[in-house]
Amino acid sequence: MLKADFHSHTNYIQPQETTHSPKQLIDRAAELKFDVLCFSEHYVFTEIADFFPVYKKDPLQSYRDFRVYAASKGILLIPAVEARYKEGEALLINFTGDIRKYPTIESLKNLPESVLVIAPHPFFKRDMCLGKNLEKHINLFDAIEYSHFYLPFLNLNKKAVKLALKRSLPLVGTSDAHHLCQLGHTYTLINAKKDIKSIVKAVRERKVRIVSRRLPYSVFLKLAIIHFARMFSALYIMKIRRKKPNAVK
Ligand SMILES: [Zn+2]
Repeated sequence: MLKADFHSHTNYIQPQETTHSPKQLIDRAAELKFDVLCFSEHYVFTEIADFFPVYKKDPLQSYRDFRVYAASKGILLIPAVEARYKEGEALLINFTGDIRKYPTIESLKNLPESVLVIAPHPFFKRDMCLGKNLEKHINLFDAIEYSHFYLPFLNLNKKAVKLALKRSLPLVGTSDAHHLCQLGHTYTLINAKKDIKSIVKAVRERKVRIVSRRLPYSVFLKLAIIHFARMFSALYIMKIRRKKPNAVK
């Protein structure tokens, strides 16, 4: 069984997203004995990118520049993007094309068969989460994410589990690591050979199992504080830049 995490971020392209570099994330993943990892850097098709141009940068650059390093640590790095649409986000796994050719959520139907489309944290209470739009566009998705970010009495994954069962879609466990401490609590075991084709096929065939243990309360609290601080500072920056359009970029 392969130990995999399809959803993580680095500071390589969008430095404000994380504090860790690609090498630091790979090193930590190697320590935790991961076999498969994705840097799913963001690409944004909403107005947010007008205020933060880094979300229009090539999201695959971290994959290209660090796949050899990952391989040297025994990790298969799979190219991926977390694309943000007005309806919500989609994780594109084994995506190697030009993301600008998929500017709407509907355009994902034109993706090659080799790309896995996963709904990340679909029922979390943020505007980038798909929510009801997931069921509306369910035919575009191959799998649904089970996020690491939950507590026993506060688990926003429950609806995702229900929908996955209802639609016979696989669930994959991920860290969405913006911080190293997020890695390794929730991940996916895949019954596949260690090559991308075999992994994509195994996920589609639901040959996957989630391993998940809840975050320590201290880590959950720390992540929640960082998350809200980042969200409010982004809103503040957008408010300032709206007032001074010339200050953008
Ligand atoms: Zn993410």
